[in-house]
Amino acid sequence: MNPFSYLRPTTEKEAFAALSQPDTMALAGGTTLVDLMRLEIMRPLHVVDITGLPLGKIETGVSSITIGALATNSDVAYHPDVVAKLPALADAIRAGASGQIRNMATTSGNLLQRTRCPYFRDASSPCNKRSPGSGCAALEGFTRMNAIVGTSKDCIAAHPSDMSVALVALDASVHLRSTSGERSVKVGDFYTLPANHPNVESVIQPGELVVSVEVPITPLAATSRYVKVRDRWSYAFALAAAAVALDVQGGTIKAASVVLGGVGTKPWREPAVEQALIGKPATQEVFVSAANLALATPDVRPDNAFKVGLAKRVVARALGLVAGGSK
Ligand code: SF4
Repeated sequence: MNPFSYLRPTTEKEAFAALSQPDTMALAGGTTLVDLMRLEIMRPLHVVDITGLPLGKIETGVSSITIGALATNSDVAYHPDVVAKLPALADAIRAGASGQIRNMATTSGNLLQRTRCPYFRDASSPCNKRSPGSGCAALEGFTRMNAIVGTSKDCIAAHPSDMSVALVALDASVHLRSTSGERSVKVGDFYTLPANHPNVESVIQPGELVVSVEVPITPLAATSRYVKVRDRWSYAFALAAAAVALDVQGGTIKAASVVLGGVGTKPWREPAVEQALIGKPATQEVFVSAANLALATPDVRPDNAFKVGLAKRVVARALGLVAGGSK
């Protein structure tokens, strides 16, 4: 008898009971999990469909916007408060996947999506992320889409999410709930580096559920942008991307946030670039000079060395757009 089970709970109590079983995956929009199950890359014994839970609201408060885990990417990207107060987040989500996928994909699914390293999705290739200890085919393989920072000798997979890059730049938090209670983690601390355990990608624990993401409403967030460069205009992952935000007063930069996508094994903050901007005039010359400090010690391969210069140009371009107030 096939022991596979599918359950669609309508209360959190039922959901947590189901999720506490070993070898269980939560299913939301299905845009990652269903693909990977079809490829037999992920083969959970139990699937818990969480779309019956009331986690789809987007609520604007006095100091933050709270986005429910099941809010779709389209709902978030076109929500008027997100567009007005968190433009980098709206930009980033609209730059991801395709319209059809954004209609299905959810906020929690976007946060937890798996890498697009081609060897991860090829069951005949060694991959430490898919099968710990088996090796890493990418190290001697095709690496155009792989990471150049945050890498390890066991994995160089780039983090795939555009949304997460913007969330780190906007200082957002993930709210997690389990039978033990609720906790919050900054999105910047949510993801882990591959080190010698690339199969572990975040601090989420078995039995925990992402219930929402909370993004502060700040002057910095209101002047944010996301710029992404990819091999084609739609339905392609980032070669290099940047979420940036600037607080400029009287022509001087008072605060800055700069986070890279497409180059890191997780969204990659660049403190050296941020520090180089603060206290300087908001000019393109300053932006280019600061952007050149990004990616100081990259781990490049022949196929992806171009990302270093590309990412710096993307940062300078994004800063220029923020300062110019236009896209
Ligand atoms: Fe697997 Fe990571 Fe190597 Fe890609 S880079 S093959 S995901 S271990």
